Amino acid sequence: MSVARKLELLKEGLERSDRMPLVFLGHGSPMNAIQDTEYSRAWSALGRDLPRPKAILVVSAHWMTRGTTLVDVSKVPRTIHDFYGFPEALYQEQYPATGAPDLAREVTTLLASHHAQEDDTWGLDHGAWAVLKFLYPKADVPVFQISIDMSRDLSYQLSVGHTLSELRDRGVLILGSGNVVHNLRAMRPGGTPQDFAMEFDRLFADRLSDRDFTFLTDRGRLGALLREAHPTVDHYLPALTIAGASDKDDDLTFMTDAIDLGSVSMRSFVFHAA
Ligand code: ZN
Repeated sequence: MSVARKLELLKEGLERSDRMPLVFLGHGSPMNAIQDTEYSRAWSALGRDLPRPKAILVVSAHWMTRGTTLVDVSKVPRTIHDFYGFPEALYQEQYPATGAPDLAREVTTLLASHHAQEDDTWGLDHGAWAVLKFLYPKADVPVFQISIDMSRDLSYQLSVGHTLSELRDRGVLILGSGNVVHNLRAMRPGGTPQDFAMEFDRLFADRLSDRDFTFLTDRGRLGALLREAHPTVDHYLPALTIAGASDKDDDLTFMTDAIDLGSVSMRSFVFHAA
C-alpha cells in the first residue's frame, strides 16, 4: 500500500466518527436552570462523560408547530426566555452557542418527508438552554433546534427520530428535552407523587427497556393514563423522537427518575451505541 493511500485511510478514519449516544433529559421547572439540584448535577456529570459532539440537534417540548417540522438555520440562535413569573435572574441567562446553519439545512432536506422547513426566528428555548448550560457550560458546541409537529400521531415522532438517526454517525448529538410525565394541573408543590405519575413513569421505563415503541405510541392502549400523564403531549414527544433514533443493540441507561412537584417525571435516559 502506498504512503499516500495510507494517509488517505488515516484521514478518512479521523473524519468518520463513532456512533454518538442519544440523550433524553427531563427538564422540569425552569428554576433547575439556576439552582443546584440533583438534576442539574446529573446533567453536569453526563456532560463530562459524553463524547464531544461536532454539533447538537435539540428536540424541545417548547417548540410546537402544526403541519410542519421547522429547523432553525440561524447562525447564532437567540436565548429565549419562554416562561412567566420567574425570578429576574432566570431572564438574565444567556447561552451563547453558535448555530449550525449548513447542517440544519441538510436536516431540512433529510426531513423532507416530514414537511420540514427552514426557520430563522426561533433560537434556543428553555427546554434547550436550561439543560445545555450544564451539559456544555462553555457553549462551545454548535447547536440548533427542530420543532415538534403537534398535528400528528405519536408514532410520527418515532419516524422523525428514525430518519435523524444517521446523524449519529456524523458526530451529531441528538438531545430530546421534555418530561416523561408532565401534568401541571396536578402539581403538588413539595407533595407526594401522584399515583398516575408513578404508574405512567414506570410503564414508560419498562416498555422503553423492552423496546416496545408501538405500545408507547398507541393512544388506544395507553388510554386514560396517557391523558392524565400528558393532558397535552408536547413534553412526551421528544422522548419518542429519541426512542425512534435508537438501535435495538444500543445500551439504555436511566438517570434521575424522581417525580418532582407531584406530577412531573424527571426521568432521563441515554442510549449508548453498543
Ligand atoms: Zn418544559
